[in-house]
Amino acid sequence: MATQLKCTQCGEWGEDSDRCPSCAAERQVHSTFANQENPNRHKAFEMPTMEWNTDPQIPHWKRSLINAGKAMHWAVLAVGGAIAWMAYWVAV
Ligand SMILES: [Zn+2]
Repeated sequence: MATQLKCTQCGEWGEDSDRCPSCAAERQVHSTFANQENPNRHKAFEMPTMEWNTDPQIPHWKRSLINAGKAMHWAVLAVGGAIAWMAYWVAV
């Protein structure tokens, strides 16, 4: 069974998802589940991955500092996660 769609132009109902059978107006179908050409939404449910700074524009010593900072950040996250995991098993 096809979905009945209401025309936003004339208010008539029809099954054609491309255009209205009454007035031939193109449907302005808005889908909540469609990826609306937004590249950020592709990664909405992906885990963040560690990315090293490999920008050749940045001098090597500066990149080392940036990457050391990134490593520190992930170390803090790992330790924090381990503590939360232990706290859970202590609690139950
Ligand atoms: Zn219409």
